[in-house]
Amino acid sequence: MNIQIDSNSHFTIYNLPFGIFSTPAKHKRAGVAIGNYIIDLSVLFEHSFFEDKIHSNIFNQDSLNDFIALGKDIWSFVRKKIQDLLIEDSDFYKVNHDKFLFLQSEATMYLPVKIGDYTDFYSSEEHASNVGKMFRPTMDPLLPNWKHMPIAYHGRSSSIISTNQNIKRPYGQVLKGEDVVYSPCNTLDIEIELGFIIGKSNNLGEPIDIKNANEHVFGAVLLNDFSARDIQRWEYQPLGPFLGKNFATAISPWIVTMEALQQFYTEAPTQTQTVLPYLIEEKRLNFDIEISFEIETAKQNKATVAVTNSKYLYWTMEQQIAHHTVNGCNLRVGDLLGTGTISGKEKTSFGSLLELTWNGKESINIGDEQRTFLLDGDTTILSAVCKKGDKQLGFGEVRNLIIS
Ligand code: CA
Repeated sequence: MNIQIDSNSHFTIYNLPFGIFSTPAKHKRAGVAIGNYIIDLSVLFEHSFFEDKIHSNIFNQDSLNDFIALGKDIWSFVRKKIQDLLIEDSDFYKVNHDKFLFLQSEATMYLPVKIGDYTDFYSSEEHASNVGKMFRPTMDPLLPNWKHMPIAYHGRSSSIISTNQNIKRPYGQVLKGEDVVYSPCNTLDIEIELGFIIGKSNNLGEPIDIKNANEHVFGAVLLNDFSARDIQRWEYQPLGPFLGKNFATAISPWIVTMEALQQFYTEAPTQTQTVLPYLIEEKRLNFDIEISFEIETAKQNKATVAVTNSKYLYWTMEQQIAHHTVNGCNLRVGDLLGTGTISGKEKTSFGSLLELTWNGKESINIGDEQRTFLLDGDTTILSAVCKKGDKQLGFGEVRNLIIS
């Protein structure tokens, strides 16, 4: 290896995630993270590093969409070239590394893609059951359709942000006793999710077969679906989430590719209800990604509030894509699919404050402070790692400060 990498680094040679960054001296462009560094792909292009496979400097742009649209063979080619560059002893590396390596600590990160459409699923059985138990205590926790299809709603892409962007506490209509009042949200929450970035479009009217669904995904990000529970509770019937959800959704700035994640597949939970043929998979797989949620307060107290894992999801990524397109709906390069809140069975693995505090009934300790929902001055931090044997990779962080 040409670069020294800390043993606990998220950005190992097995990872090589793609993102958009800037430095004080130069505007936004595409990069790959390695150790504490970013490799500037636009500089590599200028040095003809990608031979004749890539014809224009698509890396010298403020989004990865044009690169992603080139397709899977090019993603693999670029990844392999960078792996070789980092591993092999070469004159190219010795002569040029000062020009294409930048310290992450000196860079600013941005949204990695222009997101056309954003869909948020509801794929965790534990999460859906917890919500059912809280709000429909006398009924079956799952609604009758839940085990027949991955439930979802169309979200909003204009308010998707990345790390280090502040969240302004939303105002809206809430119920106060019997009265309807205009108020700041008093129950501001997070939702721990994984997001998938679409890498290959399908034509309108042509569903994606579940067997090929995997090929339509470029990579994954961490997703924090900020939620205003009091606004949501009053507005959601009969059409579902609206202003309680569309004020901010944060994603991590580095996209970990499907190619990197292949190494971390694990068996998905067995489904207990027969599903229609278009949702049947020969082998049901999820990613074994451990996702942590921390809160850091204005008084600098910090605690890990929950640790969950995407392997718990009842509906897989492939089922989500097959269902999303079964009616002919077209997904486009750069679209974002959220898995929905990921909760495990244990209380410490619940993926929202709503569940962790059981709708505000039990508080969480953060140093000498207590929380039920988020206060102004709190910073939310999602991070995630995958480990298998001596191989490790991570997603970095998505960190957001709550302001008034
Ligand atoms: Ca959600």
